[in-house]
Amino acid sequence: MTSVVAGTASSYGPLVGEVDDFMAGAVVPSDSESVDGHMAELVEFQRQLNDAGLAVVSWPAHYGGRDLDAGAAAVVAKRLGELGAPELANFVGIEVLAPAMLRFADKADLARWLPAMAAADELWCQMFSEPDAGSDLAALRTTGHRDGDGWRINGTKIWSTWGHLARWGLALVRTGTTADRHRGITAFVIDMRSEGVQARPLRAMTGRAEFAEVFLDDVFVPAEAVIGEVNKGWEVTLHILGSERGPYAVRRAAVVRAVLDRVLGHASQTRLGPLEREELVRAVTAVRLLDLRIDAVVEELSQGRYPGPEAAITKVLLTRAEQQVMALAHRVHALAGVAWLGAAPPAVGDFLYSVAASIYGGSDQIQHNLIGERLLGLSR
Ligand SMILES: Cc1cc2nc3c(=O)[nH]c(=O)nc-3n(C[C@H](O)[C@H](O)[C@H](O)COP(=O)(O)OP(=O)(O)OC[C@H]3O[C@@H](n4cnc5c(N)ncnc54)[C@H](O)[C@@H]3O)c2cc1C
Repeated sequence: MTSVVAGTASSYGPLVGEVDDFMAGAVVPSDSESVDGHMAELVEFQRQLNDAGLAVVSWPAHYGGRDLDAGAAAVVAKRLGELGAPELANFVGIEVLAPAMLRFADKADLARWLPAMAAADELWCQMFSEPDAGSDLAALRTTGHRDGDGWRINGTKIWSTWGHLARWGLALVRTGTTADRHRGITAFVIDMRSEGVQARPLRAMTGRAEFAEVFLDDVFVPAEAVIGEVNKGWEVTLHILGSERGPYAVRRAAVVRAVLDRVLGHASQTRLGPLEREELVRAVTAVRLLDLRIDAVVEELSQGRYPGPEAAITKVLLTRAEQQVMALAHRVHALAGVAWLGAAPPAVGDFLYSVAASIYGGSDQIQHNLIGERLLGLSR
Protein backbone atom coordinates (compact mmCIF):
# COMPACT_ATOMS: atom_id res chain seq x y z
CA MET A 1 0.00 0.00 0.00
CA THR A 2 1.47 3.35 -0.90
CA SER A 3 0.30 6.78 0.10
CA VAL A 4 1.10 10.00 -1.70
CA VAL A 5 1.71 13.29 0.04
CA ALA A 6 -0.64 15.64 -1.79
CA GLY A 7 1.20 18.42 -3.57
CA THR A 8 4.53 17.74 -1.88
CA ALA A 9 5.64 14.32 -3.11
CA SER A 10 7.72 15.65 -5.99
CA SER A 11 9.53 18.35 -4.00
CA TYR A 12 10.50 15.84 -1.32
CA GLY A 13 11.42 13.11 -3.83
CA PRO A 14 15.22 13.59 -3.62
CA LEU A 15 15.03 13.46 0.18
CA VAL A 16 13.13 10.17 0.02
CA GLY A 17 15.91 8.90 -2.28
CA GLU A 18 18.51 9.90 0.33
CA VAL A 19 16.64 7.90 2.98
CA ASP A 20 16.48 4.88 0.63
CA ASP A 21 20.25 5.10 0.00
CA PHE A 22 20.93 5.46 3.71
CA MET A 23 18.80 2.46 4.66
CA ALA A 24 20.42 0.33 1.94
CA GLY A 25 23.77 0.69 3.75
CA ALA A 26 22.69 1.15 7.37
CA VAL A 27 23.17 -1.32 10.19
CA VAL A 28 19.59 -1.74 11.46
CA PRO A 29 19.38 -2.82 15.13
CA SER A 30 18.20 -6.28 16.04
CA ASP A 31 15.41 -6.50 18.61
CA SER A 32 17.94 -7.02 21.41
CA GLU A 33 16.63 -8.52 24.65
CA SER A 34 18.43 -6.26 27.13
CA VAL A 35 17.43 -2.62 27.46
CA ASP A 36 21.08 -1.53 27.61
CA GLY A 37 21.94 -3.54 24.51
CA HIS A 38 18.87 -2.22 22.71
CA MET A 39 19.64 1.38 23.60
CA ALA A 40 23.28 1.05 22.52
CA GLU A 41 22.05 -0.18 19.11
CA LEU A 42 19.49 2.61 18.84
CA VAL A 43 22.19 5.17 19.69
CA GLU A 44 24.49 3.75 17.01
CA PHE A 45 21.67 3.81 14.44
CA GLN A 46 20.84 7.44 15.23
CA ARG A 47 24.55 8.36 14.93
CA GLN A 48 24.67 6.85 11.44
CA LEU A 49 21.48 8.70 10.51
CA ASN A 50 22.87 11.97 11.82
CA ASP A 51 26.18 11.46 9.99
CA ALA A 52 24.13 11.01 6.81
CA GLY A 53 22.45 14.39 7.52
CA LEU A 54 19.02 12.85 8.02
CA ALA A 55 18.36 12.92 11.77
CA VAL A 56 17.19 16.53 12.14
CA VAL A 57 16.67 17.97 8.65
CA SER A 58 14.27 20.72 9.79
CA TRP A 59 16.60 22.20 12.42
CA PRO A 60 18.69 25.28 11.61
CA ALA A 61 22.07 24.36 10.09
CA HIS A 62 23.99 25.89 13.03
CA TYR A 63 22.44 23.27 15.37
CA GLY A 64 23.24 20.41 12.98
CA GLY A 65 20.16 20.52 10.76
CA ARG A 66 19.60 21.41 7.09
CA ASP A 67 17.20 24.36 7.36
CA LEU A 68 14.43 22.34 5.66
CA ASP A 69 10.76 22.69 6.65
CA ALA A 70 8.90 20.52 9.15
CA GLY A 71 7.19 18.72 6.25
CA ALA A 72 10.61 17.47 5.10
CA ALA A 73 11.30 16.06 8.58
CA ALA A 74 7.93 14.32 8.50
CA VAL A 75 8.67 12.83 5.06
CA VAL A 76 12.03 11.49 6.29
CA ALA A 77 10.36 9.99 9.39
CA LYS A 78 7.64 8.45 7.24
CA ARG A 79 10.10 6.84 4.81
CA LEU A 80 12.28 5.53 7.66
CA GLY A 81 9.19 3.93 9.22
CA GLU A 82 8.20 2.37 5.87
CA LEU A 83 11.66 0.84 5.45
CA GLY A 84 11.66 -0.73 8.91
CA ALA A 85 13.97 1.72 10.69
CA PRO A 86 13.74 1.63 14.48
CA GLU A 87 12.63 4.60 16.56
CA LEU A 88 15.41 7.10 17.22
CA ALA A 89 17.25 6.66 20.51
CA ASN A 90 16.43 10.31 21.16
CA PHE A 91 12.91 10.33 19.71
CA VAL A 92 11.60 12.03 22.85
CA GLY A 93 14.12 14.84 22.41
CA ILE A 94 13.96 15.19 18.62
CA GLU A 95 10.31 14.49 17.84
CA VAL A 96 8.58 15.61 21.04
CA LEU A 97 10.67 18.27 22.84
CA ALA A 98 12.89 19.97 20.24
CA PRO A 99 10.14 21.76 18.26
CA ALA A 100 9.07 23.59 21.44
CA MET A 101 12.66 24.16 22.56
CA LEU A 102 13.49 25.78 19.22
CA ARG A 103 10.60 28.15 19.78
CA PHE A 104 10.96 28.91 23.50
CA ALA A 105 14.59 28.26 24.63
CA ASP A 106 17.55 30.68 24.51
CA LYS A 107 19.90 30.37 21.54
CA ALA A 108 22.98 29.81 23.72
CA ASP A 109 21.27 26.89 25.48
CA LEU A 110 20.14 25.42 22.18
CA ALA A 111 23.71 25.53 20.87
CA ARG A 112 24.77 23.57 23.94
CA TRP A 113 21.92 21.02 23.85
CA LEU A 114 20.78 20.37 20.29
CA PRO A 115 23.91 19.05 18.48
CA ALA A 116 24.44 16.46 21.25
CA MET A 117 20.73 15.55 21.03
CA ALA A 118 20.97 15.03 17.25
CA ALA A 119 24.07 12.83 17.57
CA ALA A 120 22.50 10.82 20.43
CA ASP A 121 25.51 11.76 22.59
CA GLU A 122 23.03 12.93 25.25
CA LEU A 123 19.56 11.42 25.66
CA TRP A 124 16.51 13.43 26.73
CA CYS A 125 13.37 12.55 28.63
CA GLN A 126 10.03 14.24 29.19
CA MET A 127 8.96 14.61 32.84
CA PHE A 128 5.31 15.67 32.75
CA SER A 129 3.32 12.86 34.43
CA GLU A 130 3.22 12.41 38.20
CA PRO A 131 1.69 9.68 40.36
CA ASP A 132 -1.41 11.90 40.82
CA ALA A 133 -1.28 13.98 37.66
CA GLY A 134 -1.46 12.37 34.23
CA SER A 135 -4.49 13.35 32.19
CA ASP A 136 -4.97 16.35 34.46
CA LEU A 137 -1.47 17.81 34.21
CA ALA A 138 -2.59 21.02 35.89
CA ALA A 139 -2.87 18.98 39.12
CA LEU A 140 0.90 18.47 39.20
CA ARG A 141 2.57 18.93 42.57
CA THR A 142 6.30 19.02 41.89
CA THR A 143 7.34 22.40 43.25
CA GLY A 144 10.00 24.94 42.33
CA HIS A 145 11.10 27.64 44.78
CA ARG A 146 13.58 30.40 44.10
CA ASP A 147 17.01 29.89 45.69
CA GLY A 148 19.56 32.65 45.02
CA ASP A 149 19.95 32.95 41.25
CA GLY A 150 18.33 29.56 40.62
CA TRP A 151 15.56 27.25 41.78
CA ARG A 152 15.12 24.25 44.11
CA ILE A 153 12.87 21.53 42.75
CA ASN A 154 11.09 18.84 44.78
CA GLY A 155 8.65 16.15 43.70
CA THR A 156 8.14 12.84 41.90
CA LYS A 157 7.68 12.24 38.16
CA ILE A 158 6.60 8.93 36.66
CA TRP A 159 6.47 7.09 33.29
CA SER A 160 9.37 9.16 31.95
CA THR A 161 10.42 7.25 28.81
CA TRP A 162 14.17 6.46 29.01
CA GLY A 163 14.32 8.63 32.19
CA HIS A 164 16.94 6.34 33.76
CA LEU A 165 19.20 6.66 30.70
CA ALA A 166 18.69 10.36 29.97
CA ARG A 167 21.23 13.11 30.58
CA TRP A 168 18.59 15.86 30.40
CA GLY A 169 14.89 16.01 31.25
CA LEU A 170 12.28 18.64 30.48
CA ALA A 171 10.07 18.88 33.55
CA LEU A 172 6.84 20.71 34.32
CA VAL A 173 7.03 22.27 37.77
CA ARG A 174 4.58 24.24 39.90
CA THR A 175 6.09 27.65 40.60
CA GLY A 176 2.77 29.35 41.42
CA THR A 177 0.02 28.19 43.76
CA THR A 178 -2.17 25.11 43.06
CA ALA A 179 -5.11 27.52 42.67
CA ASP A 180 -3.25 29.06 39.68
CA ARG A 181 -3.69 25.72 37.86
CA HIS A 182 -2.25 26.15 34.31
CA ARG A 183 -0.99 29.65 35.02
CA GLY A 184 1.40 28.62 37.80
CA ILE A 185 3.49 26.07 35.90
CA THR A 186 7.06 26.53 34.59
CA ALA A 187 9.02 24.30 32.18
CA PHE A 188 12.58 23.54 33.35
CA VAL A 189 15.43 21.58 31.81
CA ILE A 190 16.97 19.42 34.52
CA ASP A 191 20.44 17.90 34.32
CA MET A 192 19.69 14.31 35.33
CA ARG A 193 23.18 14.07 36.85
CA SER A 194 22.38 16.82 39.40
CA GLU A 195 22.54 16.01 43.09
CA GLY A 196 19.08 14.93 44.32
CA VAL A 197 17.91 13.31 41.04
CA GLN A 198 17.19 9.60 41.32
CA ALA A 199 15.65 7.67 38.40
CA ARG A 200 14.24 4.21 39.13
CA PRO A 201 13.54 2.09 36.02
CA LEU A 202 10.01 0.62 35.65
CA ARG A 203 9.44 -2.60 33.68
CA ALA A 204 6.52 -2.64 31.23
CA MET A 205 4.65 -5.78 30.17
CA THR A 206 6.79 -5.87 27.02
CA GLY A 207 9.53 -7.01 29.42
CA ARG A 208 11.61 -3.89 28.86
CA ALA A 209 12.35 -1.17 31.41
CA GLU A 210 11.64 1.66 28.99
CA PHE A 211 10.49 4.26 31.45
CA ALA A 212 11.31 5.46 34.96
CA GLU A 213 10.01 7.00 38.13
CA VAL A 214 12.12 10.06 38.88
CA PHE A 215 12.56 11.44 42.39
CA LEU A 216 13.60 15.09 42.62
CA ASP A 217 14.92 15.88 46.08
CA ASP A 218 15.92 19.52 46.54
CA VAL A 219 17.48 19.60 43.08
CA PHE A 220 19.18 22.91 42.28
CA VAL A 221 18.74 24.26 38.73
CA PRO A 222 20.16 27.55 37.44
CA ALA A 223 17.89 30.38 36.25
CA GLU A 224 18.80 29.57 32.60
CA ALA A 225 17.09 26.19 33.01
CA VAL A 226 13.70 27.86 32.56
CA ILE A 227 12.25 27.26 29.06
CA GLY A 228 10.08 30.19 28.02
CA GLU A 229 8.91 32.33 30.93
CA VAL A 230 8.34 31.62 34.61
CA ASN A 231 4.69 30.56 35.20
CA LYS A 232 4.10 30.33 31.44
CA GLY A 233 5.06 26.68 31.04
CA TRP A 234 1.57 25.80 29.80
CA GLU A 235 2.33 27.44 26.44
CA VAL A 236 5.41 25.21 26.15
CA THR A 237 3.35 22.20 27.24
CA LEU A 238 0.70 22.69 24.54
CA HIS A 239 3.41 22.96 21.89
CA ILE A 240 5.03 19.74 23.11
CA LEU A 241 1.73 17.84 23.25
CA GLY A 242 1.04 18.97 19.66
CA SER A 243 4.34 17.38 18.57
CA GLU A 244 3.59 14.19 20.46
CA ARG A 245 0.20 13.84 18.77
CA GLY A 246 1.28 15.23 15.36
CA PRO A 247 4.79 14.77 13.86
CA TYR A 248 5.56 11.75 16.06
CA ALA A 249 2.45 10.12 14.61
CA VAL A 250 3.81 10.34 11.05
CA ARG A 251 6.64 7.89 11.76
CA ARG A 252 4.52 5.63 13.94
CA ALA A 253 1.82 5.43 11.25
CA ALA A 254 4.45 4.26 8.73
CA VAL A 255 5.50 1.50 11.13
CA VAL A 256 1.88 0.38 11.49
CA ARG A 257 1.40 0.42 7.71
CA ALA A 258 4.55 -1.71 7.23
CA VAL A 259 3.23 -4.33 9.69
CA LEU A 260 -0.12 -4.38 7.86
CA ASP A 261 1.71 -4.92 4.55
CA ARG A 262 3.45 -7.94 6.08
CA VAL A 263 0.11 -9.33 7.29
CA LEU A 264 -1.39 -8.80 3.82
CA GLY A 265 1.56 -10.69 2.29
CA HIS A 266 0.98 -13.53 4.73
CA ALA A 267 -2.79 -13.49 4.08
CA SER A 268 -2.26 -13.87 0.33
CA GLN A 269 -0.47 -17.18 0.95
CA THR A 270 -2.62 -18.56 3.77
CA ARG A 271 -6.29 -19.27 4.22
CA LEU A 272 -7.53 -16.93 6.95
CA GLY A 273 -10.54 -17.81 9.12
CA PRO A 274 -13.70 -15.64 8.96
CA LEU A 275 -12.82 -13.79 12.16
CA GLU A 276 -9.34 -12.96 10.90
CA ARG A 277 -10.75 -11.84 7.54
CA GLU A 278 -13.14 -9.47 9.28
CA GLU A 279 -10.32 -8.13 11.44
CA LEU A 280 -8.20 -7.68 8.34
CA VAL A 281 -10.87 -5.56 6.66
CA ARG A 282 -11.21 -3.43 9.79
CA ALA A 283 -7.43 -2.98 9.99
CA VAL A 284 -7.11 -2.03 6.31
CA THR A 285 -9.92 0.52 6.70
CA ALA A 286 -8.33 1.99 9.84
CA VAL A 287 -4.95 2.32 8.11
CA ARG A 288 -6.48 3.94 5.00
CA LEU A 289 -8.21 6.54 7.19
CA LEU A 290 -4.97 7.11 9.07
CA ASP A 291 -3.08 7.52 5.77
CA LEU A 292 -5.40 10.29 4.67
CA ARG A 293 -4.95 12.08 7.97
CA ILE A 294 -1.16 11.66 7.92
CA ASP A 295 -0.96 13.11 4.40
CA ALA A 296 -2.86 16.14 5.70
CA VAL A 297 -0.48 16.47 8.68
CA VAL A 298 2.59 16.38 6.39
CA GLU A 299 0.99 18.94 4.10
CA GLU A 300 0.20 21.26 7.05
CA LEU A 301 3.73 20.93 8.44
CA SER A 302 5.26 21.66 5.03
CA GLN A 303 3.21 24.88 4.91
CA GLY A 304 4.53 25.94 8.31
CA ARG A 305 1.27 25.28 10.16
CA TYR A 306 1.72 23.60 13.50
CA PRO A 307 -0.78 20.96 14.75
CA GLY A 308 -3.52 22.51 16.90
CA PRO A 309 -6.41 20.69 18.61
CA GLU A 310 -6.96 18.64 15.45
CA ALA A 311 -3.83 16.67 16.47
CA ALA A 312 -6.31 14.83 18.75
CA ILE A 313 -7.93 13.34 15.63
CA THR A 314 -4.53 12.11 14.40
CA LYS A 315 -3.86 10.51 17.77
CA VAL A 316 -7.24 8.73 17.87
CA LEU A 317 -6.89 7.42 14.29
CA LEU A 318 -3.32 6.28 14.95
CA THR A 319 -4.29 4.48 18.14
CA ARG A 320 -7.18 2.69 16.47
CA ALA A 321 -5.06 1.58 13.49
CA GLU A 322 -2.10 0.56 15.65
CA GLN A 323 -4.18 -1.54 18.04
CA GLN A 324 -6.14 -3.25 15.26
CA VAL A 325 -3.09 -4.00 13.11
CA MET A 326 -0.89 -5.24 15.95
CA ALA A 327 -3.68 -7.45 17.36
CA LEU A 328 -4.25 -8.92 13.89
CA ALA A 329 -0.52 -9.51 13.30
CA HIS A 330 -0.37 -11.23 16.68
CA ARG A 331 -3.35 -13.41 15.79
CA VAL A 332 -2.09 -14.50 12.36
CA HIS A 333 1.30 -15.37 13.87
CA ALA A 334 -0.52 -17.20 16.68
CA LEU A 335 2.01 -19.92 17.31
CA ALA A 336 4.82 -17.41 17.70
CA GLY A 337 2.69 -15.75 20.38
CA VAL A 338 2.27 -18.88 22.46
CA ALA A 339 5.81 -19.80 23.45
CA TRP A 340 9.28 -18.52 22.74
CA LEU A 341 12.80 -18.51 24.10
CA GLY A 342 14.67 -15.28 24.89
CA ALA A 343 13.31 -12.00 23.50
CA ALA A 344 9.60 -12.01 22.60
CA PRO A 345 8.96 -12.28 18.81
CA PRO A 346 8.23 -8.89 17.18
CA ALA A 347 4.52 -9.74 16.72
CA VAL A 348 4.22 -10.23 20.50
CA GLY A 349 6.28 -7.17 21.48
CA ASP A 350 4.39 -4.95 19.00
CA PHE A 351 1.03 -6.24 20.23
CA LEU A 352 1.88 -5.65 23.89
CA TYR A 353 3.26 -2.18 23.15
CA SER A 354 0.16 -1.26 21.13
CA VAL A 355 -1.95 -1.52 24.28
CA ALA A 356 -0.13 1.60 25.53
CA ALA A 357 -1.09 3.60 22.41
CA SER A 358 -4.40 4.64 23.97
CA ILE A 359 -2.56 5.92 27.06
CA TYR A 360 0.72 7.64 26.15
CA GLY A 361 0.67 11.13 24.68
CA GLY A 362 -2.76 11.67 26.28
CA SER A 363 -5.34 8.89 26.66
CA ASP A 364 -8.08 8.15 24.12
CA GLN A 365 -10.75 9.54 26.43
CA ILE A 366 -8.85 12.82 26.74
CA GLN A 367 -8.52 13.04 22.93
CA HIS A 368 -12.28 12.48 22.64
CA ASN A 369 -12.88 15.29 25.14
CA LEU A 370 -10.58 17.60 23.13
CA ILE A 371 -12.36 16.78 19.87
CA GLY A 372 -15.75 17.39 21.51
CA GLU A 373 -14.86 20.60 23.30
CA ARG A 374 -12.26 22.30 21.10
CA LEU A 375 -13.23 21.15 17.61
CA LEU A 376 -16.99 20.54 17.85
CA GLY A 377 -17.71 23.22 20.46
CA LEU A 378 -19.70 20.86 22.68
CA SER A 379 -20.27 21.91 26.29
CA ARG A 380 -17.93 20.45 28.94
C1 LIG B 1 4.40 3.73 27.06
C2 LIG B 1 4.18 5.01 27.82
C3 LIG B 1 5.15 6.01 27.76
C4 LIG B 1 4.96 7.19 28.49
N1 LIG B 1 5.95 8.14 28.44
C5 LIG B 1 5.81 9.27 29.17
C6 LIG B 1 6.86 10.24 29.20
O1 LIG B 1 7.91 10.09 28.57
N2 LIG B 1 6.70 11.33 29.98
C7 LIG B 1 5.57 11.54 30.71
O2 LIG B 1 5.49 12.58 31.37
N3 LIG B 1 4.56 10.65 30.72
C8 LIG B 1 4.66 9.51 29.96
N4 LIG B 1 3.65 8.58 29.97
C9 LIG B 1 2.48 8.80 30.84
C10 LIG B 1 1.21 9.16 30.08
O3 LIG B 1 1.31 10.46 29.54
C11 LIG B 1 0.05 9.04 31.10
O4 LIG B 1 -0.03 7.68 31.47
C12 LIG B 1 -1.27 9.49 30.50
O5 LIG B 1 -1.26 10.88 30.27
C13 LIG B 1 -2.46 9.13 31.41
O6 LIG B 1 -2.25 9.57 32.71
P1 LIG B 1 -2.40 8.58 33.97
O7 LIG B 1 -1.61 7.34 33.69
O8 LIG B 1 -2.07 9.36 35.19
O9 LIG B 1 -3.93 8.14 33.99
P2 LIG B 1 -5.14 8.98 34.59
O10 LIG B 1 -5.02 10.40 34.19
O11 LIG B 1 -5.24 8.69 36.05
O12 LIG B 1 -6.38 8.35 33.84
C14 LIG B 1 -6.94 7.09 34.22
C15 LIG B 1 -8.14 6.79 33.30
O13 LIG B 1 -9.15 7.81 33.48
C16 LIG B 1 -9.47 8.43 32.24
N5 LIG B 1 -9.71 9.86 32.44
C17 LIG B 1 -8.95 10.71 33.18
N6 LIG B 1 -9.46 11.96 33.12
C18 LIG B 1 -10.57 11.90 32.31
C19 LIG B 1 -11.51 12.85 31.84
N7 LIG B 1 -11.43 14.15 32.19
N8 LIG B 1 -12.52 12.43 31.01
C20 LIG B 1 -12.61 11.11 30.63
N9 LIG B 1 -11.72 10.16 31.05
C21 LIG B 1 -10.72 10.54 31.88
C22 LIG B 1 -8.24 8.23 31.37
O14 LIG B 1 -8.56 8.25 29.99
C23 LIG B 1 -7.76 6.84 31.82
O15 LIG B 1 -8.48 5.85 31.13
C24 LIG B 1 3.79 7.39 29.26
C25 LIG B 1 2.81 6.38 29.31
C26 LIG B 1 3.00 5.20 28.61
C27 LIG B 1 1.95 4.15 28.69
